[in-house]
Amino acid sequence: MDLLNTLTGQLRALDEQSLIRKRRTVDTPCGARVSVDGRQLLAFCSNDYLGLANHPKLKLALQEGAAIYGVGSGASHMISGHVRAHAMLEDRLAEFVGAHLESARALTFCTGYMANLAIITGLTAGDREAEIFSESLNHASLIDGARLSRAKVTVYPHADLAALGALLAASNAATKLVVTDSVFSMDGDLAPLPALLALCEQHGAWLVIDDAHGFGTLGDHGRGALEHFKLRSPYLVYMGTLGKAAGVGGAFVAAHETVIETLIQKARPYIFTTATPPALAHALLTSIDLIEGQEGIKRRAHLAALVAQLDDGQVGLKLHRWRRLPSMTAIQPILIGDNAETMRAGAALYEQGLWVGTIRPPTVAPGTSRLRVTLSAAHSSMEVAQLITALNNLDATGKDVR
Ligand SMILES: *Cc1c(COP(=O)(O)O)cnc(C)c1O
Repeated sequence: MDLLNTLTGQLRALDEQSLIRKRRTVDTPCGARVSVDGRQLLAFCSNDYLGLANHPKLKLALQEGAAIYGVGSGASHMISGHVRAHAMLEDRLAEFVGAHLESARALTFCTGYMANLAIITGLTAGDREAEIFSESLNHASLIDGARLSRAKVTVYPHADLAALGALLAASNAATKLVVTDSVFSMDGDLAPLPALLALCEQHGAWLVIDDAHGFGTLGDHGRGALEHFKLRSPYLVYMGTLGKAAGVGGAFVAAHETVIETLIQKARPYIFTTATPPALAHALLTSIDLIEGQEGIKRRAHLAALVAQLDDGQVGLKLHRWRRLPSMTAIQPILIGDNAETMRAGAALYEQGLWVGTIRPPTVAPGTSRLRVTLSAAHSSMEVAQLITALNNLDATGKDVR
């Protein structure tokens, strides 16, 4: 039993550092109010930013998709699993974000994690001379993509354009990739994308943008970070996820058609996996319509009003001990620092029926544990007021938070 003893020892060490992660089993659809073990909770932890995950039109579209296409795709895209619904979704997504690219084409993936592995390994396939410049706060899937590629990986400090510029200038690599989250998933701030794109164009580098938290929420039509910043370039490689604001699941890459053809030919996370159920792709066509249309516009405006409520001098957050990180997005982190205190704060909120994510290393740097509040258009301003009151009270009680 030595092998099991080793694991048990490692798990105990995690526990001693307050780093054990526990899952909770939810019995109701994703939404502002959920039920866990028979308890009603007000949830501020999903990434369902527009509140579409349980939208009646999407549920109907998924049923319709199953009626038309059945359930499983049966094979990978390269064999026989590439179904009409996937093709229609690719065309729709290419049109949706295409104004920001050149000769745009889109490719759908089972998950954003896989899309990121595919972009980085696909664009550097077999090229040990390539160099990847990776932002220090990037999502784990971008980090893993860089690890899986055989290219040289250089991490640049968060939002540090001067440092990145110097690294790019010093690089002799023929293929250079600058890889960044658009909205940082645990901090909520935006990458300086216009300046990053200018640097990339100056140094002949691709700019790979992971817009997991921007797609659907940023831009007047929800086209994401590219629309928000009005970017346009043939050297952009855009990744959007479809399980967050889009409310369904999966992801896509949009880029110049030559990039997409390269991924189809070379990206192993695209080639060697079963295509998603086509009914999901069918439902996503409705999701994109909702994001782009009046309903999306209304939901984004409501979400922005909820974010502004936290900022409000009268009714907003007033923290002294903890610190709210500056963020204009739906991701609103409250920096606490200590792992155990973060867990106690999360438990105290939970006791009051408020479910907020507690984020510890290795997801964030040691000493920067935090509550990660995520707002959604599904929340009412009354519900956000309830959260604000609870956080202000807990912050005021200081160290003894239980
Ligand atoms: C969620 C997320 C991903 C992964 O997307 P999935 O579809 O959940 O696999 C990638 N990048 C960032 C920044 C994310 O937040």
